Amino acid sequence: MAEKSIATIAARAGLSSDKQHAGVVPAIHLASTYALKGFNEKRDYDYSRTGNPTRASFAQVIAELEGGSVGVVTSTGMAAVHLICQLLCTDDLLVIPHDCYGGSYRLFTHLAKKGNFKLSIVDQSDEKALADAFSQNPKLVLIESPSNPLLRVVDIEKITHAAHKAGALVAVDNTFMSPVLQKPLDMGADIVFHSTTKYINGHSDIVGGVLVTKDQALGEELAWWANCIGITGSPFDSYLALRGLKTLPVRMKQHQKNADIIAEFLNTHDAVDVVYYPGLASHPSHSIAKKQQKSFGAMMSFEVKGGVDAVKKLFEHIKLFTLAQSLGGVESLISHPSTMTHAGMEISAQLEAGITQSLVRISVGIEEVDDILADLEQALNASQQ
Ligand SMILES: *Cc1c(COP(=O)(O)O)cnc(C)c1O
Repeated sequence: MAEKSIATIAARAGLSSDKQHAGVVPAIHLASTYALKGFNEKRDYDYSRTGNPTRASFAQVIAELEGGSVGVVTSTGMAAVHLICQLLCTDDLLVIPHDCYGGSYRLFTHLAKKGNFKLSIVDQSDEKALADAFSQNPKLVLIESPSNPLLRVVDIEKITHAAHKAGALVAVDNTFMSPVLQKPLDMGADIVFHSTTKYINGHSDIVGGVLVTKDQALGEELAWWANCIGITGSPFDSYLALRGLKTLPVRMKQHQKNADIIAEFLNTHDAVDVVYYPGLASHPSHSIAKKQQKSFGAMMSFEVKGGVDAVKKLFEHIKLFTLAQSLGGVESLISHPSTMTHAGMEISAQLEAGITQSLVRISVGIEEVDDILADLEQALNASQQ
């Protein structure tokens, strides 16, 4: 049989894993501990922090979707980011993008300050800066593409190739894309990870994370650390993530359809100065995004004319969008990166990353697009009064 498509793998996630009753959906195994068969005779599972059947079902499917061999499910996305840090020793250099997720930035800078590892923060679209960082023989290079909140896209294959030549491992945060739109392991990356809180679960009702590796030994090392420090995901959250995963491909289709229309609308609205969306031909990363992504995703940001006062008015008038951080759920969300998602970053670092006070980010949901457009239109108009 030919390789199964993403939609098929997703829709059939966890089927036939209930060996006892043949339930069509997997059971949620809540037991914290498992009886041994006898003296020193273990079964597949012994203790739920170490291994759990529900968590294993989810790990197996997400690993398959990402084209990897080992999946490690963590309690949050940040736990997944933290887990990667366990691969580093005091003298090891970690290279991160200057515009990575605010929580990741906060974690890396604070751990580096404590002396856990060395850190180089670079604009990864600047080839010279990247070459300088690689000349210092990093142990690990982190890539986040598209980046948050400006949707900058970097060439994953090219950076991975250069990082490998420098002897480094590469980890890619694929949260904004999901495996439906981008497959970093196929581009050579060693680790791909997600905040499953976002598109993977898709219903804004869990926080969770996952890492996938192609290499068995690397995956097992991460799984060992996840058990050791105790950050493995809960059975119930794993069940919900697995359930969410089943509709991921269809959700992404609808997210995409809506996002294309909304980006065009924002791009021509008078109250909007700039739209940051890789799907627009005017976006500086358009051609790279087209090369490495299946489509452009449903995250975008824009500068509102009139600065922070206009942003406040926009938020007062918007009705269908919920003013909340996070992303990737079926509902549309709107946020102000400077005071919300990126508040963990100093204002000077924010400005360096291009995050201004007039920047607004939206996560386009799967509501009827005409309803989304009408709401944005009235709120944008009100922002200029
Ligand atoms: C949300 C997010 C994280 C952190 O995940 P949590 O589930 O909130 O801990 C990491 N990276 C990106 C790109 C995110 O959007």
